Amino acid sequence: MFSTNLAAIEPYEICSIRPPTENTSITFRLTRNCPWNKCAFCPVYKLGAKFSRRSIEEIKRDVDRAKAIDDALYAYGIGDGISLGAEYRKAHELINRIRAMKGISSESNTNQTCYEDLDDRVKWFLQWFKETPTIEDCVYHILQWRLSGAKTCFLGDADSMILKPDFLKEIIEYIKINFPSIVRFTVYGRTKTVAQLRSHKELVEYQKAGINRIHFGLESGSNEVLSLMNKGVTAEEHIDACKKIRDAGMSPSVYVMPGLGGMVLSHIHAHETARVITKCQPDFVRLRTLEIFPHTPLAAMADGKTFIEAEEEQIAKEIRILIEEINCETEILSDSASNLLDVYGTLPYDRQAMLHTIDTYLNLSAREKLEYSLEMRLGHFLGQYGSPTPDIMDAIRPMLNGDTLVFSKASDEMLVHAIRLIRSKLMP
Ligand code: SF4
Repeated sequence: MFSTNLAAIEPYEICSIRPPTENTSITFRLTRNCPWNKCAFCPVYKLGAKFSRRSIEEIKRDVDRAKAIDDALYAYGIGDGISLGAEYRKAHELINRIRAMKGISSESNTNQTCYEDLDDRVKWFLQWFKETPTIEDCVYHILQWRLSGAKTCFLGDADSMILKPDFLKEIIEYIKINFPSIVRFTVYGRTKTVAQLRSHKELVEYQKAGINRIHFGLESGSNEVLSLMNKGVTAEEHIDACKKIRDAGMSPSVYVMPGLGGMVLSHIHAHETARVITKCQPDFVRLRTLEIFPHTPLAAMADGKTFIEAEEEQIAKEIRILIEEINCETEILSDSASNLLDVYGTLPYDRQAMLHTIDTYLNLSAREKLEYSLEMRLGHFLGQYGSPTPDIMDAIRPMLNGDTLVFSKASDEMLVHAIRLIRSKLMP
């Protein structure tokens, strides 16, 4: 029998950082943050977030809390209907009922108050990270999972491969008892951890425990770029890790970062990454174009001119090299708002179509490229956040005719300013 003791409902720790394919998965934090946390470009766990392991008891308590929320949704008939609006309205009422039963009027995410003196861009990003989720965050998290079919689970944070197979097995079994509809468990992992620490036998145990897919941040296949970015791993270790994952019956999905070599290493970054992916044979290659974030070591390198950012056209050429030279069967996805071009397809079958998308952009005049970029970036922003922020609105207002962008009166500087502003708010 499900529990409807609303006063007993508590929030639990969810993974704010997860792959796009896990956006509607139920998530549990097995560790907190990143055990490496030294990649020069990565803003994710900077600003003082420390890595920590969590105990089995702590994680099981989170599963119990998630189960209590799921039971409450079920008891109140929420999550099975066909009208999303109605389900969210009912969930909102449930949240108010829980708060009333617990005697609280509202909740605050403590994350935001800690960082009040940071600059606007950092504050903008931090508002999406739920280090201390509220009941509201957790109810909507589980509602999303129910509405998307209740089949997938992501286990974070940044490198779950540091956990021994027995640990993961016990947690997954406990999750399956409480959420028997789940059929797919995925994690983030570092290729270094798999290459250096995990035996074939251990990897088979992960697979048997229920892990189907490992998401690896490859970023680059060039040792020069990996070293510059302090990624702490070599191209050979990338290849070794992907091979080991495949041999153990799991699916490697890799992230690649166009632009990571800057202007200087652009060529070698693209060619070497294509070579390494060909050897890795991942099932998926996800493109995440570099964006330089404040308070990262890379931002300091860019300020000191030891890293010169590649331009949009140069990055498009890098992606072209990848599409031309990757020689294995793999699916390319540009499923990140950080990307300018919508390059999607399965290699080798869709190679020409993807090259055509890139060449269409490369063949535009310099001015047309700017107009195209603004349209695409704004579209990505609206897709991610729904409506423009006041500063973006100010930047595009002179170009708006109703809902349409009209560029005839916009100078190149106005376009560049608006593009930069939008890019600075797009999460990879
Ligand atoms: S391993 Fe991943 S999460 Fe950790 S610092 Fe590098 S990019 Fe960031």
